[in-house]
Amino acid sequence: MSKRVGVFVCECGTNIASVVDTVRVAEEAGKFPGVAFATTYKYMCSDPGQELIRKSIEEQKLEQVVVASCSPRMHEKTFRRAVAAGGINPYLFEMVNIREQDSWVHTDREQATRKAIDLVKMGVSKVLRNQPLQISTIPVTRKALVIGGGIAGMQAALDIAEGGYQVILVEREASIGGKMTQLDKTFPTMDCAA
Ligand code: SF4
Repeated sequence: MSKRVGVFVCECGTNIASVVDTVRVAEEAGKFPGVAFATTYKYMCSDPGQELIRKSIEEQKLEQVVVASCSPRMHEKTFRRAVAAGGINPYLFEMVNIREQDSWVHTDREQATRKAIDLVKMGVSKVLRNQPLQISTIPVTRKALVIGGGIAGMQAALDIAEGGYQVILVEREASIGGKMTQLDKTFPTMDCAA
């Protein structure tokens, strides 16, 4: 197992740094097994932030990267690109959320900092076990099979059909409708279930 992880702790201006002691997080991260380099930066998703990651990969000969910043929904793709630009497989990267799941929901600086350190530790443990992955495209049959003709299955079949795809709906009973057909009326509209 390669053990040259780089940890990049984002301050997000004051979004993270006003609650989490990011310098301490980086210092502690630097002591984790496998971590070869750890640093902080004000805005990690900015162009200079991404360049810092790319250059550090090269200069520190990093083999895995952890970024502690915001939700992966925000910038996982950004950092995967930065990591790939540095020459590392983009899946040898983990993003740790110390903003939405830490600085934004805590006020106690000491506890929030300790939580961030723990989250980064988990990210480092994870990335050390990651395997390089390759993106591949495979042809699919543009038809759908829905198993079960209850309400959920029927609605799924209708939605897919409305999307323009052929659907095959399979039901083991003699008729469709599932549990709904056993009911008389349904609340709150009191519509006839059938
Ligand atoms: S990477 Fe996320 S946490 Fe860091 S500056 Fe950008 S938006 Fe803020």
